[in-house]
Amino acid sequence: METSELTPAQRRTLEGLIGAGERPRFRKDVVPRVRARIEEAVRAAELPEPLWLGKSSLSDLDRCPGLFDAARSGERAPFAYTERFAVGRLLHKAIELEVAGRVERDPHALAEAAAERLLEDDAFAAYWMDLDELGRDELLMEAVKTLELFRSTMPPLRRMRRELAPCTEWPVRVELAGGALVLSGTLDLVLGASQDGDASRASRLAIDLKTGNPWPEHAEEMRFYALLLALRFGVPPYRVATLYLDSGEWQAEDVDGRVLDRAADRVIAAVRAEAALRSGETLALRPGPYCAWCPRAEGCPARSSEATST
Ligand code: SF4
Repeated sequence: METSELTPAQRRTLEGLIGAGERPRFRKDVVPRVRARIEEAVRAAELPEPLWLGKSSLSDLDRCPGLFDAARSGERAPFAYTERFAVGRLLHKAIELEVAGRVERDPHALAEAAAERLLEDDAFAAYWMDLDELGRDELLMEAVKTLELFRSTMPPLRRMRRELAPCTEWPVRVELAGGALVLSGTLDLVLGASQDGDASRASRLAIDLKTGNPWPEHAEEMRFYALLLALRFGVPPYRVATLYLDSGEWQAEDVDGRVLDRAADRVIAAVRAEAALRSGETLALRPGPYCAWCPRAEGCPARSSEATST
């Protein structure tokens, strides 16, 4: 596809975020070194059972060990769709159908097809069935509006499949130390395929799609995805980014050894916290705004002492 066919906003994303320059090469020892650091920490921790970590458990620990422990212990209320989650799920499904589609579909047809597919998900189906006709139309329209923002920001991925090799909703899992630690995540969008014949050259860009404002934790989440891809494929992505659909702006970071080390540090901290908690140690609680959704909020000593001191 000719780039002259792109709108200015799409060209800006293609040139500024995806980039056309030569992709970086990584030294062959970069990923094995990070893997060895994590595995050493896992072995030293002697976890009683396999530990599964994803981006949300790492964010929980950054906030407060009590929140991390509560979530790991299954104390959170079972997941139920809210309007925001339902729109997000519809949008991601619609993007998946758009990128994979053989024919061009208008955004409303894509949103409707996405809703139909999602009825296979019991939780989504329950939410959808509870809505009246108008409620469903409103939900579809919210997804259509965000899909329009995506289409006007990103180059047309369906038509540029050969050049950009897009993958959506990509589940990636890595087992370390013989399965004692499992890291996993589902990446919203990954562009770029493996480079044949050049094993050390980075070729991928991982993008998380968000509505709303940037938060510092978004950058940490993307560093975790950089680590996940690096461990899974042996070569890190060249860049990770959060793309804010409302504004068309992005927060991007080029991946290097320091980015991987930072992500590995957070994983190692979680491994050590898990080992400490399982052996009965008490970790210092850190109250904050997130106490509002912590399952242990009621009766938490750290939270009440903060409440009386403010
Ligand atoms: S209520 Fe706040 S301080 Fe207490 S465990 Fe939960 S997040 Fe931590």
